[in-house]
Amino acid sequence: MKSLTVYAGSTGGPSAAFATAAAALGHQIGESGLTMVYGGGRIGLMGDVARAAKAAGARVVGVMTRALIAHEQGWDQCDEMIVVESMRERKAIMEERGDAICALPGGMGTYEELFEAITGRVIARHGKPIGLLDVEGHFAAVLALIDQGVEQGFIRAGTRALLQHDTDPARLLQRLRSAELSDDPRDLLPMYGRPGAG
Ligand code: AMP
Repeated sequence: MKSLTVYAGSTGGPSAAFATAAAALGHQIGESGLTMVYGGGRIGLMGDVARAAKAAGARVVGVMTRALIAHEQGWDQCDEMIVVESMRERKAIMEERGDAICALPGGMGTYEELFEAITGRVIARHGKPIGLLDVEGHFAAVLALIDQGVEQGFIRAGTRALLQHDTDPARLLQRLRSAELSDDPRDLLPMYGRPGAG
């Protein structure tokens, strides 16, 4: 694992714990000699993780749409800033440039990116490990939603098992490095989970 793509909120969260966790992840990314790929902003948890990663020696790559540069305040300290025209290009490049993917707490943009990374793995568009850095139980409801989907047969247990989650950035990175999970479509695609399917 040489690079990590980080999805994170464009706001800072309800308490200092969120910025602290984002900075701790950034620090760990730098300490681990990884390149960090992210949305390129200076604001919110995105900015916190990027500043800490860079301060700890990481190479930081931002990917941003031309239209968002003003709103999200493109961070001028990125080692590389890739400016694209559409959100779809932005997500595609972010997913492609990381050897693993990690989400911090965030809002709709973060969830959209996270779920696209999960479904991308389910349909074998990529085989990258996916992690969630939990802060103050932020991802509990997301995991509960996915668990409900598994119980109701809409989501495979193999898909749920893809999600590494931890509150500690160093442990989470270690989990991402060592994750050995099935990429067999029969373990991930919903239709193979139904009785008599396949
Ligand atoms: P948020 O989690 O909503 O604070 O947003 C986090 C990041 O996701 C920001 O860089 C947003 O620009 C980005 N984002 C917002 N909407 C989308 C979308 N439809 N697809 C991909 N990224 C998005």
